[in-house]
Amino acid sequence: MRYRVFLLQLVLLLVCSTVAVAEDQATSELRVAFDPYLAPIQYLEDGEVKGFAIDLMNTIAQRNDITVIYLPMTIQESLQALKDHEVDIILGLHFLDRQTVAVDYTDPYFTSSIGLLVKADDEEIRGMNDLHRKMIAIQRGTLEYEFLRNIRGVRYNTVTNQENGLKLLFQKRTDAFVGDALVTETLLENYGLSDEYTFIGTHLLPIEYSMAVNLGNYSLVRMMNQGLRGMRSDGTYTELYNQWFKDNDFTNLLILVIEVIAVLLVIGLVLFGLAIRWNRKLKREVEKKTKDLAALNRSLKKQMVEERRLREQIIEQEKSRALSRIVAGIAHEIRNPLTSIKTFVELLPRKYNNERFQKEMNTLVPKEIDRLNQLIEGLINYAKPQKINREPVNLDTLLQEILLLFTTAINNKGYEIKSKIDPNCSIEVDRNQLKQVIINLIINAVDAMDEKQSQELLQITINAYQKAENVYIEVIDEGVGMTSEVLHNVFEPFYTTKAKGTGLGLSIAKQFVQENGGRFTIESEQGAGTIVTLIFEKAGGTYK
Ligand code: ADP
Ligand code: MG
Repeated sequence: MRYRVFLLQLVLLLVCSTVAVAEDQATSELRVAFDPYLAPIQYLEDGEVKGFAIDLMNTIAQRNDITVIYLPMTIQESLQALKDHEVDIILGLHFLDRQTVAVDYTDPYFTSSIGLLVKADDEEIRGMNDLHRKMIAIQRGTLEYEFLRNIRGVRYNTVTNQENGLKLLFQKRTDAFVGDALVTETLLENYGLSDEYTFIGTHLLPIEYSMAVNLGNYSLVRMMNQGLRGMRSDGTYTELYNQWFKDNDFTNLLILVIEVIAVLLVIGLVLFGLAIRWNRKLKREVEKKTKDLAALNRSLKKQMVEERRLREQIIEQEKSRALSRIVAGIAHEIRNPLTSIKTFVELLPRKYNNERFQKEMNTLVPKEIDRLNQLIEGLINYAKPQKINREPVNLDTLLQEILLLFTTAINNKGYEIKSKIDPNCSIEVDRNQLKQVIINLIINAVDAMDEKQSQELLQITINAYQKAENVYIEVIDEGVGMTSEVLHNVFEPFYTTKAKGTGLGLSIAKQFVQENGGRFTIESEQGAGTIVTLIFEKAGGTYK
C-alpha cells in the first residue's frame, strides 16, 4: 500500500513536471507589467501602449514569436504581481540592490538621469544642500527614492508615478520634485509648463532602465538579453532610439548646434595645434637660420681674412718679381763700385804712399760706397712690407729714388730715360704703394719697348706736374702699344700677353691708386706707344 502511494506520487510528480516543462517551452504569451507614466519610454496614450521600451519589447516578442500582454501598474504592484506569477516580466525597472533577493535583471536598455525640479522663480533651493526641511515629491520604489531616503532632514511626499509627483509640485504641495529628467521634461512639455519650472542639477544620478523577472528565470532573462543584443548589433536599437529621441526638431537643432560647435572646436583645436606647431617650427627654423648665419658669418670672416692674406701674398709676390727685375738690372750697378773699391784695395799696399792715389781713393771710394748704400737702401725700403700710411709725399724725391734704380739698366738696354718733374709736386699717398705702382709702370714700359725690337733710340719719359688742383704723373713709352682688346683688359687680374707675365701689375697698381684717392688713365696707340697717367689731388701738408 505504501509502495503504491509512493508510485502514484512519483507518477503525479513526473506528469506535473512534464507539464511545467512543456508550459515553459511553449511560452507564446508574455505578461508584461509596466509603469505607464514614463513617457516617452513607456506610456499609455488613448488606450494604446507606446514608448521606446515598448517598441524594444515588441520587437523581441515578434522575433521570438511571442504575444505580449501589457499590464499597466505601479512599481509596487508590479513587484507583487511578479512574485505572484501574475506577470512574467516588469518593464522599466531600475537596478536596486534591495530587490536582487527577489528578481533578476536583464541588461539595461536605456540610460537617463535624475533631476531636481523647482519653480523657476524659486530662490531658496539652489542645490541638494538646500533641501533641508523642504517637502519633496518623489515616486515610491524608485532609485531616486532610495537615494533621497538617505538624506536626513528631507521631508518627502511619495507618489505612485512621476506624473502625480509633478502634479504635487504644480499644486505647490511640495517645494520640489525629484524624478527622471527626460520623463519630467516630456511631461512639462505636455502640460505646456516648461518655462515655469527649472531643473537644478539635471544629473543628480544616472539611472539605467532594465527588465526584471522572477529570481532564477534564466531562460527569460537570456531571451531578453539575446533580443536586446541582437537589436543593438543589427541596428534596430539605434533606429528605434532615433525615432523616439531624435525626431524632435529642437533636439535635432540642438544636436546640429552641438555638432557645429564640436566641429568648430575641433577645427579650432586643430588650428591652435597647427599654430603652436608652426610657431615651434618657425622658432626652430629661425634658430637654425640664426645658427647658419652665424656660421656663415664666421666662415665669411675667415674667407675675408684668407682673401686679405692671399691678396697681400700676391702683392708681395708681384713686388718681389719687380724687385728681382730691378736687381737683375742693377747687378752691374752694384758690381761697378765694388770693382772700383776692390781695385783701390788691391793697389793699396803698393801705392800706399802715392799721394795722387791717396787723393783719388779718398774721394772715389766714399762716393762709390755712398752710391752702393743708396741703392741697397732703396731696394730694402722697397722690399720690406710696410704698413699703409698716407702722408704728404714729394714726387721729385720719390721719382728720383726710382730713377736711381732704373736709369743705368734702361740705358744699358739702349733706351733713353727722360724726366720732367716739378719739384713742388706733392700728394698725400702711401709712399711705398705709389713707388710700387710707378715701378710696375716702368717695367711694363720697358717690356713694351723690348717687344718692339726697334733699331731706333726709344725713349721713356717720366713727368710730374700740377694743373689746377691736381697733380699728374705720366709714364710714357714708345713701345708696341696696345690693341683695343688689350686696353680693354689691362686691369683684369691675371690678364697678360707676356709669356712670363703674371697679369697682376696693373690690377694691383689700379687698386693702390684708388686706395690712395687717385685715378688711372691709359692712352695707347699700337706701334706708337703708351701714356699712363696717374691723377691725384694736391696735398696741403708739409712735403717729404
Ligand atoms: P704683366 O706685365 O704681368 O703682363 P700687367 O698687369 O702689368 O701684367 O699688364 C697686363 C698687360 O697689359 C700686359 O701683358 C701687356 O699686354 C699690357 N700692357 C701693360 N702695360 C703696357 C705698355 N706700357 N705697353 C703695352 N702694353 C702694355
Ligand atoms: Mg706688368
